[in-house]
Amino acid sequence: ADSAAQSVKRSGGNGFAFFEAHMQDGVRDQLELARDLRAALEAGGAGLALHYQPKVAGDTARVLGVEALLRWQHPRRGPVSPGAFIPVAERFGLIIALGDWVIDEACRQIADWRGQGLKLRVAINLSVQQLRQPEALLQRLQQALARHQLTAAQLSCEITESVAMADAAATERVLQRLGALGVSLSIDDFGTGYSSLAYLRRLPVSQLKIDRSFIQDLETSADARAIVKAVIELAHALSLEVVAEGVETEGQAAVLRAKRCDKLQGFLFARPMPAQELAQWALRSQQPDARQDFSDSVFD
Ligand code: C2E
Ligand code: MG
Ligand code: MG
Ligand code: MG
Repeated sequence: ADSAAQSVKRSGGNGFAFFEAHMQDGVRDQLELARDLRAALEAGGAGLALHYQPKVAGDTARVLGVEALLRWQHPRRGPVSPGAFIPVAERFGLIIALGDWVIDEACRQIADWRGQGLKLRVAINLSVQQLRQPEALLQRLQQALARHQLTAAQLSCEITESVAMADAAATERVLQRLGALGVSLSIDDFGTGYSSLAYLRRLPVSQLKIDRSFIQDLETSADARAIVKAVIELAHALSLEVVAEGVETEGQAAVLRAKRCDKLQGFLFARPMPAQELAQWALRSQQPDARQDFSDSVFD
C-alpha cells in the first residue's frame, strides 16, 4: 500500500494525488476504477465487451440462447471482473450508462449474428438501478430494438431474485411493462433470496435460473438435491422453464437431466466467449437435423 501511495504522489503531483494517497486503499481503488470506467463509457465503450455463454437444452445439448456477460479490459490493470466493477458503477452513478451500453451492444450483436444466419436469443443482466428508472429503461430497450430492426422476443432480461424481492410492488410494475413490450424475463440466482410463491406467480417471468451454489453441491449434498428437485417441480407447476447455472461436471448434468431441468449452463458446456468464437461454437455444436422454429433453434 505504501509503495502504491508513493507512486501516486510521484506521478500525480497535484492536490488530489496527495489526498488519494492518504485514503484507504479500497476507496482509492474504487475511485480510480470509477474514473476509468467513466472515461471508457465516454469513449463509446473502449475496453468494454460482451462475452456470451450458451444455455443448452437439458436433453440434447442444443444451444437455446446465450447470456451476455460484461467484460472490461482496463488500460493498465488488464481484465477487471464484473464482480469488481459493477458495484463501482452502481455506487458512482455509472450503471445506467453502462447498462445502456450493454443494451445497445447486445442488440447490435443479435443483428450481426442474424446477418450471418445465426438466430440467437440474448439475455442481458439488469441492475436494480435500471429497474428503478423504468421509463428510461423501456425507452432505451425500444430504441435499441428499433435501431437494429429486432423484435422484442429476441432479447431477454435477467433479474436476480434478491433484486426482484427488494421492492416487490415496484418490481412487479416494471416487469409487467417489460413483459408487455415482449421481452422475456428470468429470475437469476434463484434460491438465494426469499421470494414467496404468491409473489412469483404474479410476475410475468418465464424462466428461473437455479443459483450455482445449489448446483455445485448436487453430487455431495442430499439437501442440495432435494432443493433442486423442489425448485424444478415448483417451476414446472407454474409453467416456468428452469435453467441450472454453473454446471461444471458430468455428474451434476446427469442429476439435472434426471430431474428434467430444461436448460443447462456452465463451464462443462462452454465458458463465456467473445461473439465470433460463440458463433463458431454454436455452428459446430448444432446438428443440421435439429433445426427448428425460432424459439428453439439458432438457425434461420
Ligand atoms: P450472473 O448473471 O449470475 O452470471 C453468471 C456468472 O457465473 C458469470 O460470472 C459466469 O461467467 C459465471 N459462470 C458461468 N458458468 C460457470 C461455471 O460453470 N462455474 C463457475 N464457477 N462460474 C460460472 P461473471 O461473468 O463474472 O459475472 C458475475 C456477475 O456479474 C453476473 O452474475 C451478473 O450478476 C453480473 N454481470 C455481468 N454482466 C453484467 C451486465 O452486463 N450488467 C449487470 N447489471 N450485471 C452484470
Ligand atoms: Mg445472469
Ligand atoms: Mg446467475
Ligand atoms: Mg450469479
